[in-house]
Amino acid sequence: MGRVSPRANPRIGVRAAVVLVISILPLLVSATLMDLPAPVQITLNGHVRFLPQGTTLGELIRERDLHPRSGRLLDVEGHVLRYRADPGRILLNGSPARRTTPLANGDAIQVVNGVDRTEGTRTVVTRLNGLRPGNPQFTLDTSRVEEVRVEGRVSGIVVSVRFRPIGPSTRPPAVALTFDDGPWPGSTLQILRILERMHVRATFFVVGYLAQRYPGIVRAELKAGMTIGNHSWDHPNSPPFDQLAPARIRMEMARTSRFLHRRFGIRVTLFRPPGGSFGGPVVTTASGLGLRIVQWNVDPKDWIASRNARTIADAVLSNVRPGSIVDLHDGGGDQSATVQALPRIIRGIRKMGLRLVAIGDQTGP
Ligand SMILES: [Zn+2]
Repeated sequence: MGRVSPRANPRIGVRAAVVLVISILPLLVSATLMDLPAPVQITLNGHVRFLPQGTTLGELIRERDLHPRSGRLLDVEGHVLRYRADPGRILLNGSPARRTTPLANGDAIQVVNGVDRTEGTRTVVTRLNGLRPGNPQFTLDTSRVEEVRVEGRVSGIVVSVRFRPIGPSTRPPAVALTFDDGPWPGSTLQILRILERMHVRATFFVVGYLAQRYPGIVRAELKAGMTIGNHSWDHPNSPPFDQLAPARIRMEMARTSRFLHRRFGIRVTLFRPPGGSFGGPVVTTASGLGLRIVQWNVDPKDWIASRNARTIADAVLSNVRPGSIVDLHDGGGDQSATVQALPRIIRGIRKMGLRLVAIGDQTGP
């Protein structure tokens, strides 16, 4: 059976051709696009980016000028020891990768900056020679002492120093009278006369600016064989001494020691902080300047205006023990009650069979 094709209508043919071309046009275009390699989608520091296929990690780093910021190594005081201590990293999917690695769809590249780091510290324990008083020193007791120093592992900068008694302690049958806040016109020389007359050696913790103002009184103390200690330059009271800026604490100590050395030729080794405030950096700063902190364990509070000679003497005599350090004042105000109490204090202590000594007399610096 034969089929007879209908004769094609030429107008229909043209129309069909046009429709055909139009309908395959998108296919042709998309075929062309599919011939180009598709871009690679990555994330760079969390942001989506498209790269030509075949881009390597190294090319990306060069083209985008990717540079992690370096982290520095700082010393214990915050100064830079090394600038490029931690160079930072560029990570591919969380790990370091070769720069020749081609990047693939979904890769995550992260530029991680170096981190500033402070050097570590180490603790150095040194057993000191001989028998020594504590530091801070509260009594005349002596024992073997260990210095415990914490310092920067790289810089060696001293962070803290403290002293730890080890082993049994020795307690002398003696008491130390100490006088603070002078030199003071009037009362200091009155006290000196009593001490000389009664053959007592004592310790005077002088205030730097007062020693500068009244050098004659300091000379009289030295001539009478008294020991001079450093009681800061200005006697700052508020805020407490140990809460002042470390540079101020250092200045208060160093300026007074320097002045006493230049003016009187003496090297002081004892420091009594104003108000007895010895926390924070006080011990460390003092030991860096060759100073030991001297406190007390008998406090008659003779600087209070309502105290009289009897209450001061009673407060001392009812509290002294072998090895005591007594805190009295030759300056800072009207100390006439202290002057008046002094002979009774001296006699009372001697009656207990205790000697009167200056700090350092039997202990060494
Ligand atoms: Zn004082």
